[in-house]
Amino acid sequence: PMKASITRSPTTGKRRKIAILTSGGDAPGMNAAVRGVVRAAIMRGCDAYAVHEGYQGLVDGGDMIRKMGWDDVQGYLSTGGTIIGTARCKAFRERPGRLLAARNLVKEGIDALVVCGGDGSLTGADLFRSEWPSLLEELVKTKELTSEEAERFTHLNIVGLVGSIDNDMSSTDITIGAVTCLHRICESIDSISSTASSHSRAFVVEVMGRHCGWLALMAGIATGADFIFIPERPPSGENWRDNMCAEIKAHRDLGKRKTIVIVCEGAIDSNLNPITSKDMMDLLTDRLDLDTRMTILGHVQRGGKPCVYDRNLATMQGVEAVEAVLASRPGIPSPMIGMNENKITRTDLMKAVALTGEVAKAIGRKDFIGAMELRDPAFNQQYDQFMAISTAASVDESAEAAKNSLRIGIINVGAPAGGMNAAVRAAVRYARNRGHTPFGIHNGFPGLMAGQIKELKWMDVDGWIAHGGSELGTNRDQPSLDLGMVSYQLQKFNIQSLILIGGFEAYTACLEMSRARDVYPAFCMPMVHIPATISNNVPGTEFSLGCDTSLNAIMDACDAIKQSATASRKRVFVVEVHGGKSGYLAVMSGLAVGATSVYIPEEGINLSRLQKDVRHLCQRYGEDAEGKSQGRVIIRSECASKTYTTDIVSAIIKEEGHQQFDSRTAILGHIQQGYSPSPLDRVRATRFAVCAIDFLESHIESYTTNGPTVYTKDPSSIAVAGIQGSNVSFTSVEALLKDTDMKNRKPIQTWWMDYKRTGNMLARRSDLL
Ligand code: ATP
Repeated sequence: PMKASITRSPTTGKRRKIAILTSGGDAPGMNAAVRGVVRAAIMRGCDAYAVHEGYQGLVDGGDMIRKMGWDDVQGYLSTGGTIIGTARCKAFRERPGRLLAARNLVKEGIDALVVCGGDGSLTGADLFRSEWPSLLEELVKTKELTSEEAERFTHLNIVGLVGSIDNDMSSTDITIGAVTCLHRICESIDSISSTASSHSRAFVVEVMGRHCGWLALMAGIATGADFIFIPERPPSGENWRDNMCAEIKAHRDLGKRKTIVIVCEGAIDSNLNPITSKDMMDLLTDRLDLDTRMTILGHVQRGGKPCVYDRNLATMQGVEAVEAVLASRPGIPSPMIGMNENKITRTDLMKAVALTGEVAKAIGRKDFIGAMELRDPAFNQQYDQFMAISTAASVDESAEAAKNSLRIGIINVGAPAGGMNAAVRAAVRYARNRGHTPFGIHNGFPGLMAGQIKELKWMDVDGWIAHGGSELGTNRDQPSLDLGMVSYQLQKFNIQSLILIGGFEAYTACLEMSRARDVYPAFCMPMVHIPATISNNVPGTEFSLGCDTSLNAIMDACDAIKQSATASRKRVFVVEVHGGKSGYLAVMSGLAVGATSVYIPEEGINLSRLQKDVRHLCQRYGEDAEGKSQGRVIIRSECASKTYTTDIVSAIIKEEGHQQFDSRTAILGHIQQGYSPSPLDRVRATRFAVCAIDFLESHIESYTTNGPTVYTKDPSSIAVAGIQGSNVSFTSVEALLKDTDMKNRKPIQTWWMDYKRTGNMLARRSDLL
């Protein structure tokens, strides 16, 4: 690969040196951030340094500040915690400590520091930067530095990366480590749920989060918990305990065998008194006589290998941090790298830190509305949605609401995808609480044609949130198989609105029914398509249900494959993944596992590309005389090329590798559907479903004594629900046609190509950039 030209420091005129440190509590994904910074720095012609043990390493200097080479960060992606170490450092809080730190940086010739940590660490970083001139002045006075040395380092660049498991930083929608932490919590609560059900027990589970209820809220949604307690939103009313007990009893009366209460460690009541897990356990035991146990998850939550989301978030942000260093000028405030609306952003670090502090202050003033407003808008919406579906409405309430009851059909279309059941569950529960009558349509359109339609009650969907596959049964067949019969059955059951949960087939099914409205009045009703396909190829949305679950399944498989290759060292695995004509799975999993090359249908495969890959492999294995390097993975999307199949690609690599390296294939197949849906898919499913019911309701035309009427031919009444940035949007299936490549069954525009470029860069593929 071509060598990047040297980047010189604007102050020293020498080759630029960028250091990274991790500080505060460890968070999964910090290693991916370190890898991203180190490799991006090298690619941009700079030298990369790692400061070990957080600020302590800066204060101690010497061996704690080490130059990092390209291969020093091998294996970082899949490792939890932070390999370069972290510490809480008292000395750095005081000026004498920071003087030592400044001296050490100047001696090493480093004038740019990327800090990955929580708000404390980032506050320290900014303070360090603002004090820099005075620190140098003092060091010159005390003769620790010469004035020439000080003059060469007039300015320190600081860039913040937010590594924090509880997602408590303002100005970013998500922090590095939070999603992995949510994985650990959900795995734990899923395990607890099965034993709770077996013994008909109640469990109070305590999760991390001192001032931030993000983990508790997301875990509550993702595990279908009965109650959550978070700092930003104390339970309302003085008699909340009575209400809670009454609701738990009502659920038990409905036949529920388990009760899960999630308590955030910083949970409080409206008088700011702590709500502890022990209190909740005693309450359920004493008042309801429930066999109640308490589990404090503790440090399990921090650990383990990072999930795909965190690996890719940290990688993209690490690369962006290096760009921010290179763009930084003395007058510009220190940037913090964030994630807003699914885009990597640079924000003002100190403003973000100040805003973060405002949440705790608002809570302290009992301004809970203010505290919630300081969180991102999705947080508020998701809290309301959790409240709207966690408890079954009482019989009185639902009878009142039933006057407006819509009859809603729910159908799965296409291949199963993680989160389909979670979406059905949320739709059923929310619909029932709103007074509607949900019907499950079994086995897709053939099932509908056969009249396999059954009302779904609250308890029918209990436990579905954690189930993979499709409980309703799903099928790829389209309504055009027999439009007349589809229409007949919808009319027979008086279905007044439809929710279709599925992939591209669900989209085309909607189009077919939309176009048949003139002939079949039964289709003149509102319909929502909730995208659910591992391929993430539905137009109108950035994410479909199932793709996150699938990516994690692919990542697990690739980690295992890479490990097996470590034993034999020089082996290249060609891993074939699903995705149809969409390279999403290949690109995102490739970035998460550090693939050497990723073949996608959007680009195809040709001889010259294969030649480049072989040349690259020869060079990389050639450099590795001691045979230290691991196995390598190439990801090939199933439809990347008709000619260059997985077997052929592997055979070519094997042939060209001669004695130097070997190749094997791994076709992942249906493993990619994953087992239990990932937390993100469960959370997205719930959000989609609740918004979908609201959408259907908004199309009620009028209310009669027999209930609502919904006759409509408005094209906008058949829509795809989409996650666009942090919002859920609805775009009519007809309007989406212009954005859709019907032949290849995918959106024309994709938002993830930057991830591909970054993947190439971090695999040292300047030959592909
Ligand atoms: P977590 O989210 O895990 O709490 P954090 O980064 O907020 O992460 P802290 O313990 O607050 O964790 O900070 C980590 C380190 O950052 C401290 O040990 C200290 O060295 C440094 N630090 C924090 N606040 C300051 C400050 N105001 N001034 C100087 N250094 C600070």
